[in-house]
Amino acid sequence: MATWTPDEPMVRLHDVHKSFGQIEVLKGISFEVMKGEVICIIGPSGSGKSTLIRCINALVPINSGSITVEGQEVNDAALDKLALRRKVGMVFQQYNLFPHKTALQNIMMAPIHVLKQDRSEVEARARALIKKVRLEGKEDAYPGELSGGQQQRVAIARSLAMRPDLMLFDEVTAALDPETVKEVLVTIRELAGEGMTCILVTHEMGFARELANHIYFTDQGVIVEHGSPQEILDHPREARTKAFLEQVL
Ligand code: ADP
Ligand code: MG
Repeated sequence: MATWTPDEPMVRLHDVHKSFGQIEVLKGISFEVMKGEVICIIGPSGSGKSTLIRCINALVPINSGSITVEGQEVNDAALDKLALRRKVGMVFQQYNLFPHKTALQNIMMAPIHVLKQDRSEVEARARALIKKVRLEGKEDAYPGELSGGQQQRVAIARSLAMRPDLMLFDEVTAALDPETVKEVLVTIRELAGEGMTCILVTHEMGFARELANHIYFTDQGVIVEHGSPQEILDHPREARTKAFLEQVL
């Protein structure tokens, strides 16, 4: 086991390359995230953001370079993927709740069936998580009875039920109606406020400005530039960043 201490980067990518067939999608990505930091990854569609996020919890194997989470090499055949995914929660644009399970049951499933934890403890924690994501009263609702924003908050609670150290969010509001986007952002804001380390891919620039310690602008598999929200959103140096921001701001 790697020994990691919280004064070292919690996540460290070094010169990560990833190809799908002949197409190189990540062309040497490097960055570090310290515990408690929120970093945002922005950039045009197809620039490799989702691939990058998926590499961090070993959903996608990389071709070269290194990714460590709490000092542990992710790109290692001997890696315990279950242990990694306990530490790293991930929420996608598609929330993929189990349609025939209630909100509460969705949240309880992995701790009971994957981690084999005690049912009554898991249920108590799931009820607390329902409150945390402001869905009190919806414990017994099925996904089909919830709005997109409510379902996405169940999905966030489901991830939190594994007690992750790091949360990955991949455009979690992109498929939502404008009126429910806000309630999901409130949940993420609260998590960040509690010190959860977060890597967010987002098109919500106002949100990135407010929450991010650091923003990375990616295009065509490279980090074009990075810096504070002010540096990237107000004073971009690169033409590609300027062109992108003109479209989304
Ligand atoms: P983004 O999230 O920034 O839109 P993606 O990481 O989804 O970008 O995709 C980057 C590129 O990689 C795209 O050209 C996409 O078609 C390609 N890609 C992503 N996943 C796969 C896959 N599993 N197989 C083949 N190509 C893929
Ligand atoms: Mg994507």
